Amino acid sequence: MSDSLNVEAIFGENVFTLGKMKECLPEKVFEEFMKVKEEGGELSRSSADVIAKAMKDWAVEKGATHYTHWFQPLTGITAEKHDAFVTHPDEDGKMLMEFSGKELIKGEPDASSFPSGGLRATFEARGYTAWDITSPAFLKEDATGVILCIPTAFCSYTGEALDKKTPLLRSMEAVSQQALRIVRLFGNTEATKVVPSVGAEQEYFLIDREKYLKRPDLIFAGRTLYGAAAPKGQEMDDHYFGVIQERVGAYMKDLNMELWKLGVSAKTQHNEAAPAQHELAPIYENGNIAVDHNQLVMETMKKVAGRHGLTCLLHEKPFAGVNGSGKHDNWSLCTDNGVNLLDPGITPNENIQFLLVLACILKAVDTHADLLRQSASDVGNDHRLGAAEAPPAIISVFLGEQLEDVVKQLVTTGVATEAKEGGKLVTGVSTLPDLEKDATDRNRTSPFAFTGNKFEFRMVGSADSVASPNTTLNAIVAEAFCEAADRLEVAEDFDLAVHDLIKEYMTKHKRIIFNGNGYSEEWVKEAEARGLSNLKSMVDAVDTLTTEKAIKMFEKFKIFTRAELYSRAEILYEIYSKTINIEARTMIDMASKQIMPTVMKYTRQLADTVLAVQRAGASPRAQEKLLTEVSDLLEKAQDALEKLKDDEAKAAQLSDEKEKAFFYKDTIKADMEALREPVDELEMLVDKEMWPYPTYADMLFEL
Ligand code: ADP
Ligand code: MG
Repeated sequence: MSDSLNVEAIFGENVFTLGKMKECLPEKVFEEFMKVKEEGGELSRSSADVIAKAMKDWAVEKGATHYTHWFQPLTGITAEKHDAFVTHPDEDGKMLMEFSGKELIKGEPDASSFPSGGLRATFEARGYTAWDITSPAFLKEDATGVILCIPTAFCSYTGEALDKKTPLLRSMEAVSQQALRIVRLFGNTEATKVVPSVGAEQEYFLIDREKYLKRPDLIFAGRTLYGAAAPKGQEMDDHYFGVIQERVGAYMKDLNMELWKLGVSAKTQHNEAAPAQHELAPIYENGNIAVDHNQLVMETMKKVAGRHGLTCLLHEKPFAGVNGSGKHDNWSLCTDNGVNLLDPGITPNENIQFLLVLACILKAVDTHADLLRQSASDVGNDHRLGAAEAPPAIISVFLGEQLEDVVKQLVTTGVATEAKEGGKLVTGVSTLPDLEKDATDRNRTSPFAFTGNKFEFRMVGSADSVASPNTTLNAIVAEAFCEAADRLEVAEDFDLAVHDLIKEYMTKHKRIIFNGNGYSEEWVKEAEARGLSNLKSMVDAVDTLTTEKAIKMFEKFKIFTRAELYSRAEILYEIYSKTINIEARTMIDMASKQIMPTVMKYTRQLADTVLAVQRAGASPRAQEKLLTEVSDLLEKAQDALEKLKDDEAKAAQLSDEKEKAFFYKDTIKADMEALREPVDELEMLVDKEMWPYPTYADMLFEL
C-alpha cells in the first residue's frame, strides 16, 4: 500500500481551532473569547491583541507570510487582499513580523469595485471587514505561499451589509431567538440558543484540462455554448455510483486531504448521474461555518483539479443533454442542549413540538415560496429550474406518506390517532401520534423534502453560495415561529391552543405539500390550480425581494433593510445581464473566428471534391448533397450570428437594469439558441479533424 494517512492528525491542521486557542492563550483571554463567541459583544482591545499575536505566531510557524480578511461579497464567491505581517525595519534594518488586535478585528479593503447596487457611491467607497469570531481562522496554502485567512463580514461605511455573511448571521440570530420561544413553551429551560445545522452536498464535473483550454466557452462562461450531444449520454445509468476511475480517485483523495486540513469534514464521494459528474458531501455543522466551508470546498475543488491536469466545472449546466449540477442544502435546527427540532421524537410531548415546528415550516414555505425560489436562483441555475430539460421551478414540500397522512388526519378530524403502515400510535397528553422515522421512501423530485430529521432544499445551484438559501430559510421560519409564539405564550389552555394552531396552519398551508412526481407535466398544472408560484427564471424572481411582504419580514427580524433589499435586486439584474452578455460575446467570437472559417474551409474542400470526382467520371451525388446541407446550415448560422450581433448592440443601449436583464433573457438567449442549433448540426457533419473544439464525447468520456 501507499504511504498511510493519519487523518486524525491531519484534520484541522490548517485551522486555528478552539483547541489550539485554548492551548496558547492565557485562560482569561480564552474565556473572554468564548463568551463573546457564544453570547456576542465585543472583545477588549488587550485581548484582541493577545489573540492576534497568538494567531500570527501559529500562522508564521506554519510558514505564513501574509494575512487576509476573507469575505463574501455579492459576487457569490470569496474575496481576499493579502497583507504581509512585515513591519517597518528598525535602525539596524531588522524587521519583526507583527499583527495587532486592530488588524485582526477590522479591515478596510478598497472596496469600490465590488457590487453594491447603489448602496455606496464610488466616491464614498469605504467598506469595512469585521472579524467573524464564530468561524475559525485558517491557512491557505498554494503557490502564493501560506496565507492566514480571517473570516469576516463586509459592510459599508453606513453599516449596510455588502456581503452574504452579514445577513446570514443576522438570520441565524433571528431564528435562534424565535425558536427559543417555541422550545420554552414545551418546558425546555436549558437551551440558550438554537442553531441551524447545514450540510451542503456539492455536485461537480471533472474534465481534462487540455481539452478545457481549447474551449473559449468553458474558459469564459464555465459552460459549453456549443456542442453536439455525444452518441452516449447518461441513459445507461452506468455512471451513477459507478466505480471511480483512477484519475478521478487520485483527485478525490487529494481533495479530501486538503479539505480535512482545512477542517472540512468531507465524508461522502461518489459518481453522479451524468458522465464525468461527481459529488462530495461533508458532515453537517453550524450554518455559518457550513457556508464558509462550502466556499472552501468549491475553491479547493478547482485548485486541486489543476494539480491533476483536470478542470473542475461548478457551473449548473456545463453540458446540454445530460444532468446539471446542484447543491442539496440539508437544514435543521438544533438547540444547544442537543434537541433537533426536526426530529419527530419518541414521546408524545416531543411529538407535539415537532408537529408545531412542522406546521410553522409549512406555513413559512407556503407564505414565502417565492423568496425561497429566489434564494436558489443564479444565472446558471436557470438551466436547471424551469428550463427545457429541467424540473419546474415550483416550490413544494415533500413529507412522505406517513407524515402526510398525519397532516391529513389533523386537518380533517383535528386529531391523528393512527399511523399508516398499520400499528396504532402511542397517544399521550394530547391526541397526537408518535412518528416513526424513515417510514417512507425518498422522493428525489421534490425541491424541499423532509428526510427524517432535516429538510433537504434541493433547488440550490452548484456554483452558488449557500448563504442566501439559508438566510431566507432562517428568516421565514423565524417569522412563523414568532407568530406562533405570540399566540401560544398568552394562551389560557396551552394544549388546546397548540392543537388548534397546528390544525389551522396545516389546513391553511397544505397546498404546499406534494408527494408525487415533481418533474411531471401534470404537477405544473396541478400547482397552478393550487395557486403556487412558478417563477421560471432568476430574472422573474428578483422582484420577490422587494415586495412589501418580503420587506416587512426581513426588516422585522433585522436581516435586511429596505435599502439592502433594493440593492440586492439591482445587483441581481446586473449580474444576469453581464453574465449573458459574456456568453453572447463568447459565442460571437467563437462563431466568427473559428467556427465559420472552419466550415467555409470544409465547404471549399467539399466543392473541390465534387469537381474532382466529376472529372474522374464518377457521380459526386453524395458529396454534392453534403455540400448543400453544410452550406444551408452555414447560411442559417450566419443569419443567426448577425441577429445576435444586432441585438447585442441594442442591449448595450439599454440603461434600466431590469429592462436590460429581461432583454437578455427574452431576446439574447433566444438568439443564442438560434445560433447554437445550426452550429451543433454542423459539428455532426464537418470532418472531426477540422472541428476547432473538443467534442462532448471527448470531454465527457475521455479522461
Ligand atoms: P441523504 O442520503 O438524505 O442525502 P445523508 O445522510 O447522506 O443523507 O446526508 C446528506 C447531508 O445531510 C450530509 O451533508 C449530512 O451531514 C447532512 N445532514 C444529516 N443530518 C442532518 C441534520 N440533522 N441537519 C442538517 N444536515 C444534516
Ligand atoms: Mg441528498
